[in-house]
Amino acid sequence: MRPEVGAAMMPVFTEHFGNASSIHWFGQYAKALMDDARQQVAKLINADVAEIVFVSGGTEADNLAIRGIAESLTSKGRHIITSKIEHHAVLHTCRDLEEQGYDVTWLPVSGDGLVDPENVAKAIRPDTILISIMHANNEIGTIEPIAEIGTIAEQADIYFHSDGVQATGKIPVDVRQLKADLYSMSAHKIHGPKGIGALFVKKGTPLKPTMTGGGHERNRRSGTENIAGIVGFGVAARLAREELNSDMTRVRQLRDRLEAGLKSKIASIHVNAENALRLPNTSNIMVDYAEGEGLVIALDLKGIAASTGSACSSGSLEPSHVLTAIGRTPDENHGSLRFSLSSMTTEQDVNDVLEVMPSIVERLRELSPHYRR
Ligand code: PLP
Repeated sequence: MRPEVGAAMMPVFTEHFGNASSIHWFGQYAKALMDDARQQVAKLINADVAEIVFVSGGTEADNLAIRGIAESLTSKGRHIITSKIEHHAVLHTCRDLEEQGYDVTWLPVSGDGLVDPENVAKAIRPDTILISIMHANNEIGTIEPIAEIGTIAEQADIYFHSDGVQATGKIPVDVRQLKADLYSMSAHKIHGPKGIGALFVKKGTPLKPTMTGGGHERNRRSGTENIAGIVGFGVAARLAREELNSDMTRVRQLRDRLEAGLKSKIASIHVNAENALRLPNTSNIMVDYAEGEGLVIALDLKGIAASTGSACSSGSLEPSHVLTAIGRTPDENHGSLRFSLSSMTTEQDVNDVLEVMPSIVERLRELSPHYRR
């Protein structure tokens, strides 16, 4: 978290602990704090304050958007269009709906991870109720042609959801220009706290709540509001908006230096989705003849936190569905490594990675039966 975020949250735990639904002063003070934060989050994506629904994070925002539309529009149809590279929060929600009898079209992507808007248009049917395509991919950083897809959805009169968890705060976002009806965000991706996020719900969009109860958030999401989280999210959103251009220009330069440095120091490495329009902070690198998990562990021992393209679940290594969708073989998939930079990343951080990576890769390659110098 940014220090300013923590500093703004602390008094909510110690002094301003009112329940925003209470009539007394303590409650109304908490409500005022929440209103200010809502304004900051709305401003970050050019939404109206009444269109911001606070939820527990990106996962819940995606669930609420997809299930909320699906359950509202059963009389119109049960067909959903999405892509093969969505985050699991979208992917598994759509799979669950498939099991409940909904029909899902899983659009393929190009070698750089791009959804072709023409494929979206072609997939539309009379019973299509929702199109859900992420704004930017969390593994390879590809930025999708969301405004084009949004226009197609609008012309076909179909609701359009975009998972903007990775895009928000990293690139300019204007939900009007993107023609999104629903847009997911998560505070911890922009130096805010974990466990708080928001769903933009365009005025007039039908949405059956997934969380029922006391009718909070204009009946969209019940449950006593997480004021400290919301306040932290508000500060993070303001800072992201105010500093977006300068921060991200610097982050992009660092990322490009990291990639150029790795390519010049290590043979047979490639950058995934290198030619696509990408987020400035994401770098997904494929290292031939080396295991991603080995790389992550060796980097961790040097105090560097990276991640692989694979997810280790229940003891088996599942290849990344994103890298598979862009055409990577299982071997290539397992040799993938992701670095995520941020406004807090320094020149020295990049130098450190460039210093340790060549010998780490060399050592792992020595263990590979396929590697020849
Ligand atoms: N969507 C995307 C694209 C993400 O990258 C993430 C988190 O990594 C999520 C959704 C889930 O967000 P949260 O961790 O806030 O539930």
